[in-house]
Amino acid sequence: MKALVLEREKELNLRDIAVDEPMGAHDVKIRIHTVGICGSDVHYYQHGRIGPFVVNAPMVLGHEAAGTVVEVGSAVKTLKPGDRVCMEPGIPDPNSRATQLGLYNLDPAVRFWATPPVHGVLRPTVVHPAAFTFKLPDNVSFAEGAMVEPLAVGMHAATKAAVKPGDLAVVIGAGPIGMVTALAALAAGCSRVIMADVQQPKLDLAATLGPITPVNVASESVVSKVKTLSDGWGADIVFECSGNAKAAAGVFELLCPGGRVVYVGMPGAPIAYDVVAAQLKEARVEHVFRYAHVYPRAVALMSSGKIDVKPLITNRFAFGQSVEAFDFACKMPANSVKAQIELE
Ligand SMILES: [Zn+2]
Repeated sequence: MKALVLEREKELNLRDIAVDEPMGAHDVKIRIHTVGICGSDVHYYQHGRIGPFVVNAPMVLGHEAAGTVVEVGSAVKTLKPGDRVCMEPGIPDPNSRATQLGLYNLDPAVRFWATPPVHGVLRPTVVHPAAFTFKLPDNVSFAEGAMVEPLAVGMHAATKAAVKPGDLAVVIGAGPIGMVTALAALAAGCSRVIMADVQQPKLDLAATLGPITPVNVASESVVSKVKTLSDGWGADIVFECSGNAKAAAGVFELLCPGGRVVYVGMPGAPIAYDVVAAQLKEARVEHVFRYAHVYPRAVALMSSGKIDVKPLITNRFAFGQSVEAFDFACKMPANSVKAQIELE
């Protein structure tokens, strides 16, 4: 089938590739409609690896996807051909200890789309377990369906933070994950989110999404903004979504006593942080890796109108322009957040 194949670092081709996918009794076959381009896809394209995951053989990219069910296995009861769906890209081993504990995102044996050596879904069809395939309500588009994957990360972060109604949160980093984390934090009950970044167009967009106060850290201090909005007390929650080492080390200064920090962004190298500063506030520090048990909730929030991701989808490309789409995503302009590729 024709697919967007990463041959090796810096070499992408739209070409035929054989993908052997037997259909099991509990699987469904999905015709792919829309795929979002994720920072991880771009990173594999530019560098051929992320941490321990190395592209050693041609691999199809793409893991943020929505489409239409075209075939169901004999044991599938929940889905039928014609259903519009989005898919969770990680398939854990059902017998693993992590899966049994409900931590299936941490299963070391998880097979995750477009993480070497597993093919992604920038291709016409995919076979996937029905258990990780979720129906989209009529009022949720394919484009929104393909946003469920990044939104799930933000929702997992908000869940880990244990948001309480009225909390004041800071989100550091206004990229796609920072944006969806802010939306998830507000949907979870935060009264306001302070969003910090250096790209003004992204901050301007963020400010239209809800009670979000943008702070351009190139010219303003987040600490003083937090102090002003919290009568000097500090933010209840800090979501670090930039992966920037300095930002990631500086979160405790923003935090209120007893506050929570969630590390969402992935720094490129180990960071050092001030343990005593964290101790003086008894900060609770959480980390997220992908998500678990979030997709149906993300779809429900979109369908009910509590979360609108549509303003974040800034650029669309046809499947035939996939290579151009990736070259665009490598040099994302400041006013772009999420680029998607449409296969139909
Ligand atoms: Zn992603």
